[in-house]
Amino acid sequence: MEPAGSQTAQLAALTNEMSADDALQKLMAGNQRFIYERSKSPNQTLSRLDEIMREQKPFATILGCSDSRVPIEVIFDQGLGDLFVIRVAGNIVTPTELASVEYGASVLKTRILFVLGHKNCGAVSATLKGGNLLGQMNMLIDSIQPAVDRSTQQPAIASKMPSAKTCFGRWSG
Ligand SMILES: [Zn+2]
Repeated sequence: MEPAGSQTAQLAALTNEMSADDALQKLMAGNQRFIYERSKSPNQTLSRLDEIMREQKPFATILGCSDSRVPIEVIFDQGLGDLFVIRVAGNIVTPTELASVEYGASVLKTRILFVLGHKNCGAVSATLKGGNLLGQMNMLIDSIQPAVDRSTQQPAIASKMPSAKTCFGRWSG
């Protein structure tokens, strides 16, 4: 059995010392494996869980929708401790989600922020449809509506967007 210090050093070498370009490439390579049905399902063992028990060093922060058809670790072919994932219906960013993004960047020191949208989003569809929803769900609509308003005011921009909206940003440095 390796001493804990050695495991921590290995984790540092494997994750947070990679460049933003390398992190993006690792994410895209995993997505290509998933798309072509060649997933390796890395880091999904109990020994990996032991390895990251004391400290997590995910290489990417990802903001995605809560949609069950878009499981983040699966579509990027990553495993335990690889990704710091924030999921919320409609990909909205309230102060709570923003605090999680900040935690990923400043505390966990992930190398990139990836915002992942998807087709046929129920929250976006409900916003476009209008009307009142049950309980607290109107909070989602309130957060999405400004983006809908902007896109309808700028149809030229909306028409240029790909059907599956994917965008990403990188931390500075
Ligand atoms: Zn969605």
